Amino acid sequence: SRLNVTPVAPDEIFALNAAYFADADPQKVSLGVGVYRTDDGKPWPLPTVQKAEKALVADDDLMRHEYTAIEGDVPFLPIARDLMFGFEGKQSEEEAKARIGTVQTVAGTGANHLGALFLAHHMKPRSVWLSNPSWANHQTIWDLAGVPRKTYPYYHAATRSFDFEGMINTLESEAEEGDAVLLHACAHNPTGLDPNKEQWVAIADLCERKKLFPFFDSAYQGFASGSPEEDAWAVRYFFNNKPDMEMCVAQSFSKNFGLYGQRVGAFHYCLNRSSTSIRDVVVGNLCHLIRGEFSMGPRSGCSIVKKILTSEELTAEWYQDLQVMSSRIKTMRRALYDELVRLQTPGTWEHIIDQSGMFSYTGLTPKQVYALKDKYHIYLLKSGRASISGLSQKNVAYVAQAIDDVIRN
Ligand code: PMP
Repeated sequence: SRLNVTPVAPDEIFALNAAYFADADPQKVSLGVGVYRTDDGKPWPLPTVQKAEKALVADDDLMRHEYTAIEGDVPFLPIARDLMFGFEGKQSEEEAKARIGTVQTVAGTGANHLGALFLAHHMKPRSVWLSNPSWANHQTIWDLAGVPRKTYPYYHAATRSFDFEGMINTLESEAEEGDAVLLHACAHNPTGLDPNKEQWVAIADLCERKKLFPFFDSAYQGFASGSPEEDAWAVRYFFNNKPDMEMCVAQSFSKNFGLYGQRVGAFHYCLNRSSTSIRDVVVGNLCHLIRGEFSMGPRSGCSIVKKILTSEELTAEWYQDLQVMSSRIKTMRRALYDELVRLQTPGTWEHIIDQSGMFSYTGLTPKQVYALKDKYHIYLLKSGRASISGLSQKNVAYVAQAIDDVIRN
């Protein structure tokens, strides 16, 4: 071939999912990919989403397959922004809105990518700081943008808790002015551990003092606490309380609306002052990148979100759907914990109930993870990350028993 290509390792999550589907064992359990499942192990198109879809069909809008604008579906943009920022801060709403430039993206991945590319072109950070560990795709995304990566400590393995001191000390002593710091807005992937409010305040102070650029990744709004407002706390705190600090947010609607394959997302750039003219220049430059890459974000998933969030009734129902998902996950955390305690499985298991969001960082070793797959057909990531919604009342005792066995033997 005329190409200069070397083999690329398959994406761990998608490869694991394929192996799970190919496995004929009736007891197999998927704790890999981060998708919501019902207690029957089935996908769950949100009831509110189904209602919105029916309403959209009934609308029979002639425009429904037409091009939108380069920045996306224009009425969707303030809806996405308001879900993220809420605007209960000190500034007047209009002033605050004039600080934010928003464009539609190809889901959260696309928002992360567009943001990374935009910063690489127009801010040129010397480094981006990722948490150790982080969502593996952050590495690919920042490599593609050509920004050198560094990591800050995040997970304290011995105590299975958030390493706040390690994070602060490393950024304090090693991060340089203008560096970007990637922060998970809530429900940190893969650890399930978030800073508390006091710690967020300290992180915001540090970013301000050291002139670092906060880059928020919000992929699970509504999944950590069940409340979209509560889960946006950190983003809103930074925005409202550090108005002199610029920042950005990559927003995904994949998990909280169950619209995984529809690719709904937005990217928000927050300026350090209200200026519709600067904001429009920022959006214009984002549009330039969008035009060269994909012309505009896809239409149908974002019509569904728009339909829901412009109706008070559907919005209230969506809040209930979020409760259904987040509370089932909490129930399964508790069930797994109870079983492991009942079996007196060696180790401590409080972290399973203390962590939040879709995942638990179990603390299982790669060898134990391999044994779970080999012997029990239970699939989770090599890091020990388990997607809790793969558990059900039917399989949780089996999974706990299997974990107990691979730990003891
Ligand atoms: N960021 C994080 C931390 C994630 O876990 C995910 C989903 N796995 C995303 C971004 C993006 O997801 P999507 O592109 O499906 O919206």
